[in-house]
Amino acid sequence: MRSMRKFVFGVAGCLLLNATHVAQAAQSPATRPSGVVVSLPTHVAQAGSNAHYKQVEQYLRKTFGEPKWKDYYDLYVIVDRLARANGLDDRPWRIRTIPTYDINAFATEVNLLAFFDGLLDQVDGDRDALACVAAHEMAHHTQKHIPVSVGERQQILQRLRQEVVDEVTAENEDLRKDLNAMDIGAWVTGTAGQVTGRTGSILTGIVGSVLQSGRRRRIAEAEQRIKTIYAEKEGQRKKEWRELSHRHEFEADKFGYQYMVRAGYNPRGCITMFNVIERMPTSQLDSDTHPLTSDRIAAMNALTTQYPPAKLANEGKSRLASNSKPLGYGISRDGQSLQVKSRAGSNR
Ligand SMILES: [Zn+2]
Repeated sequence: MRSMRKFVFGVAGCLLLNATHVAQAAQSPATRPSGVVVSLPTHVAQAGSNAHYKQVEQYLRKTFGEPKWKDYYDLYVIVDRLARANGLDDRPWRIRTIPTYDINAFATEVNLLAFFDGLLDQVDGDRDALACVAAHEMAHHTQKHIPVSVGERQQILQRLRQEVVDEVTAENEDLRKDLNAMDIGAWVTGTAGQVTGRTGSILTGIVGSVLQSGRRRRIAEAEQRIKTIYAEKEGQRKKEWRELSHRHEFEADKFGYQYMVRAGYNPRGCITMFNVIERMPTSQLDSDTHPLTSDRIAAMNALTTQYPPAKLANEGKSRLASNSKPLGYGISRDGQSLQVKSRAGSNR
């Protein structure tokens, strides 16, 4: 579980929500109705499937105990339906709940969908809202939204710094030597602070009075150029990462919306979800990973015009009719998640 990449570190561009705080979520009273599980959208409930869902319930009760089994049950029903209604049952999916009170979810590893307890409490009993979250995360996987990790970003920025030093010191070996004497290497690897602000101490401490004023000025100018060029390149790179991340979120909202509606869920579930996010203080803040919630709501409303729900629901209905057998399930081999099997894997 520790290896999972979390949005709060800015790593996975794969999360539905902005991070929030335990204390805030804890203020909301528990809304979980006891003993209630997700009921099936009527148009997809199949004759004979009740026995299957009864078996699922028994298996999950035995495996996860109270009250966790209900979360897994709800998620199984939803992910199975999303997969079959959208032709996404050619691969297994994995579901994991995380006992942390963040209002968040994310997609990671291969086809893994992870949901924090804080989020599950907020959408408890609302299958449309939970389907919106699950579909959004599935969309991150299907659209191959591979995030640039924190470690990768650090390496990229380090290379940028080295490039800038090389550029400024090109064809000037003396200048390079002087800058090396100022421990420019530490700045390049990010182990030192700013490259600038060091000239004074270096000049007096290391090189001292032997420096001629022209050389001194040249070093200071080189430092200034390095600082300016790097700031521009770093800003550009961070802007690109931010735009990519926002684009991924809008895409996941768009595909997720279509997935959920095809599977027979009400798109209002997404608005419910966005309203939960909007109540978080972080939702009003400019984020490097997620667009403003108000912009996501506007985009979602536009989607209902662009892709009318009735048409999508009909598409899903016929797909589910020809693919009516629910997918298999079981604990994944690492024992950490519930597997919803692929169509091929379900027939064993
Ligand atoms: Zn997302």
